[in-house]
Amino acid sequence: MEKKGFLIVISGFSGAGKGTVVKKLVEKHGYSLSVSATTRAPREGEVDGREYYFKTEQEFQSLIDYNGLIEWAKYVENYYGTPRKFVEEEMAAGRDVILEIEVQGAMNIKEQYPDAVLLFVTAPSADALEARLRGRGTETDEVIAKRLKRAAEESQDMNVYDYIVVNDDLDECVETVHSIIRAGKCKRSYNEDFIKEIQDEFKNR
Ligand code: 5GP
Repeated sequence: MEKKGFLIVISGFSGAGKGTVVKKLVEKHGYSLSVSATTRAPREGEVDGREYYFKTEQEFQSLIDYNGLIEWAKYVENYYGTPRKFVEEEMAAGRDVILEIEVQGAMNIKEQYPDAVLLFVTAPSADALEARLRGRGTETDEVIAKRLKRAAEESQDMNVYDYIVVNDDLDECVETVHSIIRAGKCKRSYNEDFIKEIQDEFKNR
């Protein structure tokens, strides 16, 4: 039977390697990645339509008004939201879609899509996270301090997630996430139509 796609929410601390994990999942296992809309300014190297769809507040508001977002949230000073059209089309075509979003968005998705899996990617420890942020060498002490403060706050939301995945070894982490998704797709609740179909098939033999 044709199955509709599956929704995967991935959140995690900045510096935990969440972005790299997601990139590998897309490259290696063919997941679709949703590109969010945001009102924040592009960072150096970011391209409109690739990292984000960069919007003015007015444009973002009209996306909300026209029901163009399946979820949205304010994070720090900016708005972020998941465009509805892409996600719905991909899922209808049977493709599994990854949303890389923060906790308010994750909770919102879980309400609308109870079968969605919510994963939180973390470094092995707070010290390891700090070491990674420092190791990048791209951020000032002030920025690192801010990110760590944010991570401390975000650690309070980890309870919301179905799965906590430690990113110690990148490839292992990617395979673990892939396995979790595959297991999620075998859950009974996700297979209710399929169960019914097989039961009917037997009945009609
Ligand atoms: P950044 O500005 O660093 O790219 O992203 C800030 C935060 O916003 C990250 O935690 C990121 O996962 C989250 N985010 C990105 N896109 C969305 C979205 O569409 N919806 C929600 N709720 N959060 C998002």
